[in-house]
Amino acid sequence: MEEKIKKILQKALAGLEAATTENINELQSKFLGRRSELNEILKSLGKLSLEEKKKVGAQANKTRQEIEKAFESKRQQLQPKVNDLKIDFTAPGKYFAVGHLHPVTQVMTEILEVFKSMGYEIADGPEVEDDWHNFEALNLPPEHPARDMQDTFYLTDGNVLRTHTSPVQIRYTEKHKPPIKIVSPGRCYRNENEDASHSWSFHQIEGLVIDKNITFADLKGTLEVLAKALLGPETRTRFRPSFFPYTEPSAELDASCPHCKGAGCRSCGYSGWLELLGSGMVHPEVLKNMKIDPDKYTGFAFGLGPERVAAIKHEIPDVRYFWHPDVKFLEQF
Ligand SMILES: [Zn+2]
Repeated sequence: MEEKIKKILQKALAGLEAATTENINELQSKFLGRRSELNEILKSLGKLSLEEKKKVGAQANKTRQEIEKAFESKRQQLQPKVNDLKIDFTAPGKYFAVGHLHPVTQVMTEILEVFKSMGYEIADGPEVEDDWHNFEALNLPPEHPARDMQDTFYLTDGNVLRTHTSPVQIRYTEKHKPPIKIVSPGRCYRNENEDASHSWSFHQIEGLVIDKNITFADLKGTLEVLAKALLGPETRTRFRPSFFPYTEPSAELDASCPHCKGAGCRSCGYSGWLELLGSGMVHPEVLKNMKIDPDKYTGFAFGLGPERVAAIKHEIPDVRYFWHPDVKFLEQF
């Protein structure tokens, strides 16, 4: 028995000599596990005489401890040393591009900041709208020819993907009474083919102000502040008469071209002016639909496209660049 235990120790130490991190666990269970030779001996001690039991038991236990110790020190040896890892701690780190906001998001944020500084509240609404909020309440009854201006995505349940963010104005006035001063940013959808200046999905920021004695002069002053904030303090503005069913009178706002300062360049088609947004005084019918008395209150509304503003600011000739992700394009902003 003594010889057998000695041999176990020798075998274990010899085996451990060549151990690697891959097989050390296997070896440990072979020499120390429940089914190891050594364990079998310890289990069979009961069959021995008292004297033998003491002797063999002591030897076997001592051997077990020795093997355990040997495994412990081998494990330590196998631990990778810092110096062995061949890491140069002084080498410069790897660069990870963290990205930034999309140029359209940047412009939206910029526009909203301008209105927040003028005390506007930001209002939100659903992208799936019903006919009343998207059309009818905004003075676009079912037979109104202006509905042809907006090729609409109709859903099977009769709802639509909102064609503008104006329905947010209707929803807001259902819960709030004048004075009202909101901007509603968001995504809109129109069933249009993509080209350099159109997309089936785009953003809008609409504004609505309703109070007593609101005049066209208030609209003009507000939009002048916006144009100067977006395109520079030297920006000039001009109104052109226009038509929208929900405003009367309606006007489009042009801003002097920020690139040529109005002298004429390729960006502005050599006119010196750029079309910036649509606006007007809220139509009395729309006020009635908002349950606001048009004899007591007046208001103005405007809507602009962040894609268009971003295109003007960065001289991007084609809005499709904004919608088809190309890191090489986007990382310039
Ligand atoms: Zn120009």
